[in-house]
Amino acid sequence: MNANAGKATGSATAVVVGAGVGGLATAVGLRRAGWAVTVLERRTTPERYGTAFGIHPTAQEAVDRLGLGEALRARAVPYRSARIRRPDGRVLAALPLERVERKAGRPELLVSRPHLLDALLAELRRLGGAEIAYGTRLTDPAPLDADLVVGADGIHSVVRTTRFGTGSAVRSLATEAWIGIAGFETGTYGETWGEGRFFGMTPVEPGRTNWYAVVPKAAGENGNTGGAAGAAEGLRAAFADWHDPIPRLLADTDPATWIRYDMRHLHPALPRFTAGGRVALVGDAAHAMTPNLGQGACTALLDAEALTRAVALHGPADLPGALRAYDTERRRSAQRVALASRTLHRFMTGRHPALRDALVGLLPG
Ligand SMILES: Cc1cc2nc3c(=O)[nH]c(=O)nc-3n(C[C@H](O)[C@H](O)[C@H](O)COP(=O)(O)OP(=O)(O)OC[C@H]3O[C@@H](n4cnc5c(N)ncnc54)[C@H](O)[C@@H]3O)c2cc1C
Repeated sequence: MNANAGKATGSATAVVVGAGVGGLATAVGLRRAGWAVTVLERRTTPERYGTAFGIHPTAQEAVDRLGLGEALRARAVPYRSARIRRPDGRVLAALPLERVERKAGRPELLVSRPHLLDALLAELRRLGGAEIAYGTRLTDPAPLDADLVVGADGIHSVVRTTRFGTGSAVRSLATEAWIGIAGFETGTYGETWGEGRFFGMTPVEPGRTNWYAVVPKAAGENGNTGGAAGAAEGLRAAFADWHDPIPRLLADTDPATWIRYDMRHLHPALPRFTAGGRVALVGDAAHAMTPNLGQGACTALLDAEALTRAVALHGPADLPGALRAYDTERRRSAQRVALASRTLHRFMTGRHPALRDALVGLLPG
């Protein structure tokens, strides 16, 4: 790791911890502002696993400002006409995608996580002046010799726990998610809500369908006694009598490619996203949320763009001012999204599906 590289050339220096969406987008923004950047990543190679991210129009504007709009649109697909259904297939309501598109003048997009990471890495290479130190696990940010330290190290952030205390901690929910990509297009998109479980389907790229299944942990654990094959058996059984194409999607996707997520969030919310005039948190490190609103990557991109815009505007001489501006712009907004996502999770997996469905049925179908 060479966090001092920028010192030799006289540029301001930053260390970004974590090469996920938030860390790489921050590195791109800092490079565009002329900073020398070192990214520390505990994994030994670029990490290309993952399925699809929804990118909301406001996050697309942030991506445009980071200079990556074209690269995003080249690999993304629009997300339109999706419905909320019951397990028997009856439509309860429409997801508000048309309204979002009308208001923003552009559609919600879906992009595969590997494509988004590739676009960020390609832009960093094009800009030059950034080093990514793979295989470097940070244990303590205090000795880092850089003007700015950005914690983009995800939900279990070491930067957060060492610099912001452990008052705000990771809470596990009673559910787990399985995600995968099937090798055919369904043409049927949206979410299907059952009792304590739900299933989602979105486009991701031609000829493929992105899906996610959220189930109570006990069901997953029971199903998981036989490893990947056992998990597949449990999950396929849990959705066997749900409407087409749900059982087909699960049957078509090789369980070896399924990804399991513990459903977690950060609670209580942090009192600030910055510390000591030189440390900032972005993305899941600052506000890990449940995925129900599909906003985890969006908020990480918005954080990265807002932080690096503030840093560019204030300049290295007024880093404390830049961090204050970043905290003001992003903290409340990101925390509101996290709370809404958690509330939606409770609503979707609640114990009174009949009441829930009646309420959702009042929305435009
Ligand atoms: C089921 C599910 C579905 C989702 N769907 C969506 C969606 O549709 N749309 C959406 O916007 N979001 C979605 N998300 C959320 C999204 O995956 C994350 O919120 C988002 O990627 C945040 O990125 P990040 O860079 O902050 O963190 P991460 O992607 O977690 O990256 C953190 C990086 O830091 C590295 N790291 C960690 N600790 C250290 C250390 N000590 N030293 C060095 N490196 C370290 C890690 O290896 C990793 O590369 C979903 C999440 C789940 C669980």
